[in-house]
Amino acid sequence: MSKLAAFGGTAAVPQEWRRVEWPLVEDDDRKAVIDALDSARLVSDTDGENPVSVLEERWARRFGFEHCVAVSNGTAALSLALSALGIGPGDEVIVPALSFIATGLAPLHQMAVPVFADIDPVTFNIDPDDIERRITGRTAAIIPVHLHGAPADMDRIMAIAARHGIPVIEDAAQAPGATHRGRPVGGIGAAGSFSLQVSKNIPTCGEGGLLVTGDAELARAMRRGRQFGEVIEGGRERDYISYGLGWNHKMNGLQAAFTTAQLARFDEYESARQRNVTAFLARLAELPGLRVPTALPETTHVWHILRFRFDPAAFGLDGVRPEALRSALRRLLRAEGVPMSQYQLMPLPDQKVFVDRIGFGSNYPWAVTGAPGTVAGAGYPVTRAVIADSLTLQKRHLSPASGDLLIRYADAFEKVWANPDVVAALAKATS
Ligand SMILES: *Cc1c(COP(=O)(O)O)cnc(C)c1O
Repeated sequence: MSKLAAFGGTAAVPQEWRRVEWPLVEDDDRKAVIDALDSARLVSDTDGENPVSVLEERWARRFGFEHCVAVSNGTAALSLALSALGIGPGDEVIVPALSFIATGLAPLHQMAVPVFADIDPVTFNIDPDDIERRITGRTAAIIPVHLHGAPADMDRIMAIAARHGIPVIEDAAQAPGATHRGRPVGGIGAAGSFSLQVSKNIPTCGEGGLLVTGDAELARAMRRGRQFGEVIEGGRERDYISYGLGWNHKMNGLQAAFTTAQLARFDEYESARQRNVTAFLARLAELPGLRVPTALPETTHVWHILRFRFDPAAFGLDGVRPEALRSALRRLLRAEGVPMSQYQLMPLPDQKVFVDRIGFGSNYPWAVTGAPGTVAGAGYPVTRAVIADSLTLQKRHLSPASGDLLIRYADAFEKVWANPDVVAALAKATS
């Protein structure tokens, strides 16, 4: 049994392996950006082909979406989808209690109140039963998130939404390429949004986002909202008339060109990632007290983030708090060179902005409906349990070349699990 690195042993993951390379920048990407720079078509505010329209067309074609509208980032994409669907003051929007903050902020940007629903303990995605419980006469949209790259339960969510006549906006920021019963996520609800932020599975060299929809009128509304409320049409000069409320949410041509080049390598990257991650998870699944993420039947999980849950009882540590086991494992694994991290330190409804109702002016939008704010520490038992007993791996496994690194990560897990007494002593000391 080799000595744990936290106590002076040699780390399972050598120092030279620890550099993260993501995104991978290759000559094709460099050339695409330079070509876009030289093309002098740097923004999408004109009619005709430009790097932004090329990305929209390729993204739609690759995944099978009817309409694609490129925007400045994934947060703007969510706001714009809500706006295009007419969601505003007095409306409630149901979102999961476990997500990136942007999912909760987007309704606020439209002066609508986010209403949080608990999650499923296996997929970490919004729980359809809890959606159902939280629907009121004011519910105007549901935003399921395909968290960590795993599709949400779209059959049930779409059925609930249809029964109540509520549109669904899929937050697919973490899940480009994921499928649910053969359909690409983002294309199942009324609208879908993606983020191209550098850490995502299909990145740009900075910030970017995409909206997709099967509804031509909705796509037109998104385009108007993206550009000051203007209508940009083929064969017609820009008239500088705002036909409705708009923003400047346009994507930059260089960002678009970079992502178009990345998209051309996506299939190759994705199949390597599937191979690497599946082999890694199969090894970890053997360890007692460790629950690895899984893809549900008839879905493709694209493994944006890997979340591991730890069960003290199954580890032989009855009575030890999950947080104590988690922090012991975090310390031991990090010392071995595995950068275990927490993704989301609290349920979204505990974030100060929602608890203190810090929106527009004096407590708007909550003041419109008289809706109470959320109470920190209350409700959302599954979200709380998952945050308390899990750790994540981010970014390291996204590169197609990560296979050898993941083998060393698995070695590190096995090494730590071969020292249950050390884990137990450390966990009990923090309890
Ligand atoms: C990254 C992310 C967003 C926001 O995307 P940005 O491009 O960073 O604005 C929204 N939702 C989820 C689930 C995300 O992971």
